[in-house]
Amino acid sequence: MEYRVPFREGVVYREAKPTGQFAHENFPEARYAIDFVVDLDTEVLAAAEGKVFSVQRGSTTHFRPQDLIGMDIEEIKKLANKHTNYVCIEHPDGTFTEYLHLGPDVPVSEGQDVESGKPLGYTGQSGVMSESHLHFNAFKLTEGGIRSIPVNLCEK
Ligand SMILES: [Zn+2]
Repeated sequence: MEYRVPFREGVVYREAKPTGQFAHENFPEARYAIDFVVDLDTEVLAAAEGKVFSVQRGSTTHFRPQDLIGMDIEEIKKLANKHTNYVCIEHPDGTFTEYLHLGPDVPVSEGQDVESGKPLGYTGQSGVMSESHLHFNAFKLTEGGIRSIPVNLCEK
């Protein structure tokens, strides 16, 4: 697929890589994920066309990683899964992209076809996170589970 940066033209962002216990490379499912540091309430757009695979909305809860130090990683994952608003899109080539830590309102639903650039909601504070960012990840489903893949994002 050709994937675009998941924000409108002109949005100022910075790519960050968390380190330590929550480093993406610690998790095969998130190995190549990108944390886009952007202002809260920045509109998030689909990186490519596809069909909405799954959605979670309605959460207004987030936890700071530093408050969870010492907690079992599986417990943290459960906490994150429960409280993270997200959209996951399945693309025609069989890849998926996911957009995490959205605000509570997500304007797309499971099964909906979306064009590249379709608004998916706004960056918010949900799940496990410190500074305001969008966690963006492209992945494939393999026999071993979810495997993050590296992608090039073009500016639109
Ligand atoms: Zn992340």
